Order: sequence, then structure tokens, then C-alpha cells
Amino acid sequence: MTKNIYLDYAATTPVDDSVQEEMAPFFSEKFGNPSSVHSFGQEALFAIDKARVRVANFLGAREREVIFTSSATQGNNLALQGVLEKEENPHVITSPIEHKAVLEPLKNSKAEVDYLPVYRNGVVKAEDVLEKVKDETVLVSVMYANSEIGTIQPIEEIGKKIKEINKKRKRKIVFHTDAVQAVNYLPCDVNRLGVDLLVMSGHKIYGPKGAGALFVREGITLSPVFYGASQERKINPGTENVPAIVGLGKAIEEIKKNNPKKTKELRDMMITGIEERIEGSFLNGDRERRLPNNVNMSFEGVEGESLVIALDREGIASSTGSACASHSLSPSYVLLALGLSHEMAHGSLRLTLGRGVTQGDVNYLLEKLPPVVERLREISGRGSKK
Ligand code: PLP
Repeated sequence: MTKNIYLDYAATTPVDDSVQEEMAPFFSEKFGNPSSVHSFGQEALFAIDKARVRVANFLGAREREVIFTSSATQGNNLALQGVLEKEENPHVITSPIEHKAVLEPLKNSKAEVDYLPVYRNGVVKAEDVLEKVKDETVLVSVMYANSEIGTIQPIEEIGKKIKEINKKRKRKIVFHTDAVQAVNYLPCDVNRLGVDLLVMSGHKIYGPKGAGALFVREGITLSPVFYGASQERKINPGTENVPAIVGLGKAIEEIKKNNPKKTKELRDMMITGIEERIEGSFLNGDRERRLPNNVNMSFEGVEGESLVIALDREGIASSTGSACASHSLSPSYVLLALGLSHEMAHGSLRLTLGRGVTQGDVNYLLEKLPPVVERLREISGRGSKK
């Protein structure tokens, strides 16, 4: 019997029932504009404040340091452009495996952008940041966990190094992290991490699409990207998306529903199961320093795109990399940055787990994947010798 298994939780997650429940009244009876003085407006404002407290508590931040956005892409743009716009000859240090929501705003800014080495395991080194710092450096942006290969970056260590450097400098370096993929599984206390700007997204954490948050440390001023009224401290003006913000707040509170230990067990079962069953399969990204829910493998002689389509026919939803890049037929820029050949970077499959995934699902994948790979290899004239 064909099943219907979702293994693409890094692309997006379903909205948790409790989140939907809390959001629902804000579409209908509690529809006020939070800027209105009457009780309808105050009810909406109260709901936003409650969500802000929840996000601030999760981050160990102050309420006024939390800005609601419509997505992580918007949050990253507000943060990066907001820092760079006001600087003269800015220099930025980042990694080549950031999400496009970071790489593109940097590429389209006036800054000189320097990229850290990511090595074969897809992890940057804090000391490499030190090497690259120069007088003009105003910003370091390194993602907390990678969306394609799940590698976890040494954010706390980088944060400490930047703090040390800043003690000796007049021109302070701002530290930004895109924590979108990390929020489900990793501690996100901004003071422990030593970050000044942090971005998250609602739809990756069982919250709604159209909701995100940007942490802006007290004392950091961002040049405006949008102009309008004074919502969200003028950093993100415009009438707030109240149901989405309420949903994000509830989703953050429900993060405890994730089970990193069980997810990790299923992940490892998947990785070793694939390695044992399929010759010429390789894990991409560090085996240890990776998110509990990420499996990313390359297969010799197989195109990732054909693999995703073939698996979909078997009732398994997977991806080749980040959902935003999935319509591009070029090899993964993340895997190329790790030093993989074009062929292997084309042959990658990303399987990401979440709350709904069971041992039965893993077994089903391990049953279906080997013959699919074998068939595709035969089609491409690369059948195994087994
Ligand atoms: N940053 C990372 C690491 C992501 O994985 C994603 C989504 O795939 C984004 C940013 C963009 O998030 P959003 O869809 O909320 O704009």
C-alpha cells in the first residue's frame, strides 16, 4: 500500500492544533486593529504583547527587543540592510552556505562581503572570523544551523570572540544569526549566544506562515528599510498580522513538544540504514554537529531531482535542498562550498524529520529508497555491481 509520508519538515511544518485554536478568534470576533484606542483594538494589542512576552522569554531577551515580521526573509533584510545602510565602506563577514535570505541582501548591499571557509564538514571555525576582521568590519552574519545539511555553527564561540574584539574597537561589530532552523532544537538564549540580531520564522516551528520575529539588542539602531507609521518601533511599520503573531507566540510556547532525543534516534537509524543498504551513498555535513532532524545524502550516479520525484510517487515527500532553491536545476551551492563535485552536489537528497514521523515511516523509507536509487542508476547507465 502506498503511504503518504512527509519528510520535509525543514521546508515547512504543519500548524499545531493548539496554535490554530489560539489564532482562530483573531480572524473573526477579535479582529481589532492594535493601534485603535477602543476595546477591539486593545484586545488585539494585548494579544500581541502576550506573544512578545513569550518570544522574549524564549530568547532571554527584553520585550522591547522583539520585533514581529512577516517572515524570516523580511527579518534578515531588516537586520542586515538596517545595519549596513548607515555605515561608510562597510565590510561584512559571512559564510557561503547561508540561506539566500542572507546572501542576497548582502550581495545587493554596498558592503564588501568576505566569506568564511566551511570545510568538508560544513562547519565554520570561530578563529577564521578573527582572521578576517579588519577596521571596516561592521557585521558578522553566521547562521545557527544550516537548512540543507543541518550543520550547527559555533555561534556562542564566535559571539565570545566578537565581544573580545569589540572591547578594543571604537567601530563595533554587530553579530547577526539566522536561527530559523535552530529554534526547534537548540538553546536560543541571546545573551549566552552573544548575538545582537537573531531571526526566526513561524512556519518552521509548527506556527503559521506569514509570521516571524527579529531580536534587536538594546542599543543597536537599524536604519529603516520601510517607512510608515510607528508599529514595531518603526522597524517594521504597517498594521500587524495579529492572528499570525498570536500563532507565533503559541508555537514558541509549544517548542517543548519537539522530542530531540527521539528525532535524533530516528535520524541516525535513517542514516545508517541508507549507508548499509545503498552502495555509493554519502552523508553530507558533519555527523555529530548536526540538527537532530536532518539527513542529507548524496548518491553516486543519481540526480537529486529525479530521486525526489520518484520518492514522491512512492508517497514520500523529500527535497534536494532548501525549498526556495528547489526550482533551480543548478547543483546545491551549499554542497559546492563544502567541496563536493558538481555530480555529487547534484545527487543530494534532504530528508528532514519532525513531530509526526514514526519508526514505521523510517522503515518504509528504508524499504523504498534502495530500489528507487537502483532503478535511477540503471536508467543513467550507472547500475550497481552488487
Ligand atoms: N533562513 C533559513 C535558514 C531558512 O531555512 C529559511 C526557509 O527556508 C529562511 C531563512 C526563510 O524563511 P521564510 O520562509 O520565513 O522567509
